[in-house]
Amino acid sequence: MAFEGLGERLQSTMDRIKGKGKVTESDVKVMMREVRLALLEADVNFKVVKQFVNDVKERALGSDVMQSLTPGQQVIKIVQEELTSLMGGENQKINLAQKPPTVIMMVGLQGAGKTTTAGKLALHLRKKHNKRPLLVAGDIYRPAAIDQLQTVGKQIDIPVFSMGDQVKPEEIVENAMKHAKEEHLDTVIIDTAGRLHVDEALMNELKNVKELSNPDEIMLVVDSMTGQDAVNVAESFNELLDITGVTLTKLDGDTRGGAALSIRSVTEKPIKFIGVSEKMDGLEAFHPERMASRILG
Ligand code: GDP
Repeated sequence: MAFEGLGERLQSTMDRIKGKGKVTESDVKVMMREVRLALLEADVNFKVVKQFVNDVKERALGSDVMQSLTPGQQVIKIVQEELTSLMGGENQKINLAQKPPTVIMMVGLQGAGKTTTAGKLALHLRKKHNKRPLLVAGDIYRPAAIDQLQTVGKQIDIPVFSMGDQVKPEEIVENAMKHAKEEHLDTVIIDTAGRLHVDEALMNELKNVKELSNPDEIMLVVDSMTGQDAVNVAESFNELLDITGVTLTKLDGDTRGGAALSIRSVTEKPIKFIGVSEKMDGLEAFHPERMASRILG
């Protein structure tokens, strides 16, 4: 389905209204219906949409907008501004420890892109922050997860700590922390297990790993293509682990990125990075105003 951008839609709605000389409250209502539809099409959670539309409507009905010569443009601008501020306004940086090691715990459902993002982050931290990362293979359940992390490590020349799949993740993490210290590696990135669904066993294991490693950053990795589901996933992980940041993956696909808006408003945790390719350099800082433009279309 071709997606007609919201900017265009609002403009054509305005063109219809223009002949009338004055913009009325009911005209604004018509525009808000367009905003609502566009956000729902971009896969933004309906509760988030409702609140958002109410906020925008309130501002749009302000006299300075209604009496301006370009009310359509004004409303588009308000929508853009409100979207940006809902997503946190500015780019949020990754948490780094004052005193090494920095510990980053990667969490998320299977297939979200945890292992890939762990590698991307390691490369990013080495390149941009001059760090010496260690990747830790803590996902002992998914067949091939350990091999995959080792392949990633080789590709970007970052060491990988593994104890195979017969040792409990808690023990792996304890040993990895010691290993990092001995080898003077200042950043420990832990790849944890994911499941197809959030379940109690997974959450208990993740809680234990959190307690043991005292992470500076608990990075939830979410697949942007999963739309509405992404919100529930983010909510569950946040409730149990009190995450500190989100990476939204697969934005190189044809998703409108509505998940960004929903996740941010539901968890109130910042989206810090976006994944834009399968390759190791496919990680970018998250910029709310760019995402607002993408959602608007
Ligand atoms: P995990 O189960 O959460 O560890 O997920 P993986 O890291 O194995 O990723 C699952 C799949 O998604 C793999 O095929 C990755 O190459 C792919 N993937 C991860 N991030 C991105 C991204 O930002 N863009 C694209 N196109 N693919 C991605």
